[in-house]
Parts: sequence; structure tokens; C-alpha cells
Amino acid sequence: MSGTFHAIRLSKSDAGQKADFVDIGLGDLMEGDVTVAVDYSTVNYKDGLALTGKAPVVRVWPLIPGIDFAGRVESSSHKDFKPGDRVVLNGWGVGESHNGGYAQKARVKGDWLVKLPDAISNAHAMAIGTAGYTAMLCVLALEHEGVTPDKGDVLVTGAAGGVGSVAIALLAKLGYRVIASTGRASEADYLKSLGASDIIDRNELSGPARPLSKERWAGAVDAVGSHTLANVLSMTKYGGAVAACGLAQGMDLPGSVAPFILRGVTLSGVDSVMAPKAKREKAWARLTRDLDLGKLDAMTVRATLKDVPRLGADIVEGKVRGRVVIDVNA
Ligand code: NDP
Repeated sequence: MSGTFHAIRLSKSDAGQKADFVDIGLGDLMEGDVTVAVDYSTVNYKDGLALTGKAPVVRVWPLIPGIDFAGRVESSSHKDFKPGDRVVLNGWGVGESHNGGYAQKARVKGDWLVKLPDAISNAHAMAIGTAGYTAMLCVLALEHEGVTPDKGDVLVTGAAGGVGSVAIALLAKLGYRVIASTGRASEADYLKSLGASDIIDRNELSGPARPLSKERWAGAVDAVGSHTLANVLSMTKYGGAVAACGLAQGMDLPGSVAPFILRGVTLSGVDSVMAPKAKREKAWARLTRDLDLGKLDAMTVRATLKDVPRLGADIVEGKVRGRVVIDVNA
């Protein structure tokens, strides 16, 4: 039927939650001052949690999931946007309490959108996705804390995942010597191709941490949390910093204050969802400069809306390597 478009819709009943492929109209979208023709979305860890119901990410039912998208403005009453503008959306509760990116159209607040730099195509924007934009925020946090390449190695945990893969590529291009922590030894060549110099087994970091251990790295990007983050902190060099963005192992932090009070280590929290617009624009501008698009392509596979439920289950099981771009019009 004309005027309708494809979407995935999550609904919940006493029997549990389910994902349906539906054809809906603009009237089914929520309020907003910009309507976007979506070209691409992606599958982030949080999307996996929403799609599987493994964590209470979805707060409004029924809902179109998908925490990010890239597309072209179709209509706008927001002063900063006009039809044809290429835009990216990350977070702001989209795919949680506002209809999200797994649809061919989205209507959102213009204040949530960032205009894409010319050098980043809509497909590349979603190859980066919220995972890659968060990796950039982590790198910015390390820079802010004075972790420069001459200070020592930088560790990336959850290395073969989305945040981890982009973080390795960014840090390597910026001249850091990168140590990648992974549970997938079979991905060693992949991680080295992105720029990792050393690979360590994530089991080295996943058990209970000592208050302090031998100093191993000047900084870290941690996508894992829990015991891993406690170990990472305990092994961070004097004056170093750790950017914590994830919880793939767990949301707890069973550690000690010793790294903070005896080594002056900084734990820098990174949130992408409510980050202010200026920070987002800085991150996207830096991604333009500091991310090798050849490496981005090498870590990315393409899929369609039909693949999304399966990929959501895969990502929470740690089975997705790098990044997945969803072509919502395929
Ligand atoms: P991915 O699933 O792509 O990556 C997570 C990686 O963590 C996996 O690939 C795996 O890497 C590792 N991992 C998985 N399970 C465990 C475990 N039990 N113990 C140790 N390591 C594990 O997810 P994303 O890259 O999309 O997201 C990574 C994390 O960052 C998630 O927790 C996500 O919620 C968070 N995040 C937070 C944001 C924020 O705003 N703060 C924004 C975006 C993401 P390997 O196989 O190499 O060991």
C-alpha cells in the first residue's frame, strides 16, 4: 500500500515479548519536528538487549527498536534542518522509549540529530554506529586525562566487539601501542589487522581483582565492566586513566580504591546516550579525521531488517565480530 513503510515492532504480552515485521504509516510514528528517510541502522549491544528482552531497555510498548540510524531529512520544522540534509542519530532514548531505527522512516526531535560530515557516508555512519561513536568518546576521555601515546600502552577490552574494534583502529591511527583483550583467540589476526600490537586472553582479567597489580598500561578503553574493569584499574600505571563505557561482563565493579588513592588513576565514565550535542559533533568530526575507513570496512558486514532479530541474539552472546550495518531498504 502506498504511504506505508517497513518496520520491526516489539510488543509484549503475558506470553512474553515478540518482534513482528510490520508495514506502518507516518501516523504510527511518535512526535518530533524532523522526519527522516532512514537509509541504515545497525545492531549494538543495547539493541541486542532490547530485541531479546535480556534487560529492560524497552520502556514503551509497542515500540520500534533500534538505538541509532543514518538517513536524509524528508521534512522538518526545526530551524537547523532542511529536506535532503544527511543526519545521524545516536541514543536520546530512541529505541528505548521513542520509536527507533529499525524502520524506513523515523520522526524525532531535531535537537537529537547531528549533521553528518561530508566525508562520512550514511552507510559508514552506521558502520561506526553508536558503538564506534562511543569508542571515539572513550578516546577523547583518555586524551582529556592526558593519556598520550608516549605515556605507554593502551588496553582495549571486548576487543573483537563493536566498541573494541573501532577503539583499536582509532588508537592505532593516533599512534598508541594497543593491547587487545579478547575471549576469541581465533580473532588475533583480525585484531592485529586493525592495529593491535599485543593480544591477551580476557580470562587474565575476568576473575576477582587484587587491589593493586603490576602496572601494565597507561590507559584503557573498557567495554566489559565487572571484575574485568576492577583488574584493568589495578594494572593501570601511576597517573593513568580508564574510560569505562560497557557492561558485557556485568554492571558491578568489585574492586578497590587503591588504584585511585595510591596511583592517582582516573576512572572516566563515558555515556553516549545523553551526551550534549557539542560533544557529539566533536566526536563525529574526530571520527572523520582519525578513523581509517579501510579498517572500518574490514570490520563491517551488511545485513537487512530480516536479519535483525537473529543478530540481536548473537550480539548478547558475544558472537558478533566488529560492526553490522542494517540496510533498511534492502
Ligand atoms: P559487542 O557485543 O559488539 O562487544 C562486546 C564484547 O565484549 C564482545 O564482543 C566480547 O569481546 C566481550 N564480551 C562479551 N561477553 C563478555 C564477558 N562475559 N566477559 C568479558 N568480555 C565479554 O557490543 P558493543 O561493542 O556494541 O558494546 C560493548 C559494550 O559497551 C556493551 O556493554 C554496551 O552496552 C556498551 N556501550 C555503552 C555505551 C555508552 O553510552 N556507555 C554505548 C555503546 C555501547 P571478545 O569476544 O573480544 O572477548
